[in-house]
Amino acid sequence: MTLPEAPTSPAIELIALTKRYGTGAPAVDSINLRIERGSYCCLLGPSGCGKSTTLRMIAGHESATSGDILLENRNITDLPAASRGTAMMFQSFALFPHLSALDNVAFSLKMKGVDKAQRHARAGELLERVAMGHLAERKPSELSGGQQQRVALARALITQPRVLLLDEPLSALDPFLRIQMRAELRRWQKELGLTFIHVTHSQEEAMALADTMVVMNHGLIEQVGPPHTVYNRPVSEFVARFMGGHNVMDTPAGKVGVRTDQIAVLPLAQAATESATNRRAVITDVEYQGTYVLLGLQNAGAAISASTTAEISVMVSEAAFAAQPFALGEEVQLAWAPDAAHALAA
Ligand code: ADP
Ligand code: MG
Repeated sequence: MTLPEAPTSPAIELIALTKRYGTGAPAVDSINLRIERGSYCCLLGPSGCGKSTTLRMIAGHESATSGDILLENRNITDLPAASRGTAMMFQSFALFPHLSALDNVAFSLKMKGVDKAQRHARAGELLERVAMGHLAERKPSELSGGQQQRVALARALITQPRVLLLDEPLSALDPFLRIQMRAELRRWQKELGLTFIHVTHSQEEAMALADTMVVMNHGLIEQVGPPHTVYNRPVSEFVARFMGGHNVMDTPAGKVGVRTDQIAVLPLAQAATESATNRRAVITDVEYQGTYVLLGLQNAGAAISASTTAEISVMVSEAAFAAQPFALGEEVQLAWAPDAAHALAA
């Protein structure tokens, strides 16, 4: 008899996980993270922040300097890659060009010495599962980008992993294909019910895909949460700036973040005062962006003009701008609701 598993047991748990390559600052600095089963988790952050190192330690392609990695409560920190229950999907799918789709999928079973009939049967089942059974004999060059991605997925799934690891799988694709492929990845993840951990430097990609976003900076985790929360309530100046769409401002109430689409641009009021929720600014840039107009502004008020965070961006809908256009050099009043501003850690 098997006992039911604890409902709270995560797919992956990282405990004080650290990687040092040399004597300098660690590439991954004692991070703690729980990734729920069946979730789509994106590790997000600028180049060099430690995303790939974290993923490679989970995969077993890189040793941990210290700390632990648990997969469904099993400590896998020192296990070889092949016995961890993880599988990796690489950039641009990395299919073998000279092998058919079927042989690409069967490849790891061949390495394990599984006989041809058996490995082809298993690979064929997986290709059926990703709706590619009818194209099993084609070479990668005879398949579309979307079909190649499904073959790569089937190839990763043949070892029956509990967790699929993806390191920038879409970043070498052209923008059109990238958006198509990410929708497919998301669909397959939900359909398979597997845990995906996907590394990307694109906040747009992470927001489109993730149930949970993990924002990293300098080997540390800055924020963990669903995209909506991370976007609307970035905890730090770094996250606000990295996610974009935010102004980071010094106000009498402290350093705050305010979304660019939550600031109203008003004609300059008589005897305007500056407070935590409004200020005077001069328009320095007007960019037409289609559905909206992006205004660049600089502080004009005496109280704030000495501040180092003088640049402000405001998104005005195309209709609102048409109803009340503003010109370069014009001085205006900016205002936002008190709850549009949230405190940021420096
Ligand atoms: P990311 O994937 O977020 O771009 P990486 O995890 O690849 O970042 O790298 C994190 C840091 O570790 C960077 O400073 C990088 O230069 C360093 N690093 C990565 N791999 C190695 C390695 N094999 N040897 C030495 N330093 C490395
Ligand atoms: Mg990387």
